[in-house]
Amino acid sequence: MTVKILVTPRTFGKSDPVPLAMLEEAGCEIVRNPHGRVMTEEEMVAMVQGVDGIIVGLDPVTKKVIDSGGSLRAVSKYGVGVNNIDIDYAVSKGIKITNTPGANSAAVAEHTIGLLLSVCRHIATSDREIRQGKWTQHPGFQLEGKTMGIVGTGQIGRQVAERAKGLRMSVLCYDIYPDGFWAKKAGVAYCSFNELLERSDFVSLHVPLVDVTYHMISVNQLARMKKNSILVNTARGGIIDENALYDALVNNVIAGAALDVFENEPVEDSPLKELDNVVMTSHIGAHTLEAVQNMGRMAVSNLLESLGI
Ligand code: NAD
Repeated sequence: MTVKILVTPRTFGKSDPVPLAMLEEAGCEIVRNPHGRVMTEEEMVAMVQGVDGIIVGLDPVTKKVIDSGGSLRAVSKYGVGVNNIDIDYAVSKGIKITNTPGANSAAVAEHTIGLLLSVCRHIATSDREIRQGKWTQHPGFQLEGKTMGIVGTGQIGRQVAERAKGLRMSVLCYDIYPDGFWAKKAGVAYCSFNELLERSDFVSLHVPLVDVTYHMISVNQLARMKKNSILVNTARGGIIDENALYDALVNNVIAGAALDVFENEPVEDSPLKELDNVVMTSHIGAHTLEAVQNMGRMAVSNLLESLGI
């Protein structure tokens, strides 16, 4: 019997023929996301029927979606963050869940540094102004000699920490599971979350979005940060309380922010758009040719293994 696979990420197989070839060689029938964007719950419900496995991006795999996919046996996340999947419910139904740890770490780490530089040196603002016929010189911040605070020292946080060291910054880290061995080797130090907020010039978030990390950065945490500090989020929207961030940026509680991820994506009417001390990108942290290739191949291997093919 043919195994039917729903593939939702738009970049899947776009620049690398191998993942699709792997599925075809395994005899899978492939159904693609026809919408050209992240699907809604209702669209997922319609697409999941009769499907054995899903290669999923950011689209919701909720209880309703799982219940609609009567033959669903495996969900393979094309990426790392699994907050769009109701894992507990899926597991209770015997559905195997996998993700692609490490596949996009370098891409996200590089994007984090790029965003930080863009805010510190007003790169996006300057670009916008030149296009508007202006020629302004905004004073910026240097990275060298500053303290970078990394919240979450998993695959991505570590790579950001190591790059920050390469840029001659000191690095403070916070994680619920600190790894003293890695910290010693990398020349970084762990501290409490509050200490990190108070001592860092730049705070970069690399934790998953789960109940305890929802609005982990809100009014009180922003108030602890230095007046000249910059907040970077390439992890997940929802970790930052965006209303509190807007107030903090308008009232000079902190100096700037760089965001690749938002509580509601795509961003439509956010007041953050009005602010020049914010740089925003459209959840592109993992969008490099290399990361897309790694995620595609790993997601297919995981799926085929889960399905026993
Ligand atoms: P990871 O699982 O390797 O690391 C997460 C780290 O966070 C772990 O060390 C864990 O112990 C720590 N952690 C978990 N809960 C915590 C808490 N409450 N307080 C402090 N630390 C906590 O994941 P990763 O590969 O480093 O990815 C991190 C996040 O980045 C992902 O969950 C994902 O949401 C996001 N991400 C974003 C993009 C993008 O395109 N912008 C791409 C990939 C991943």
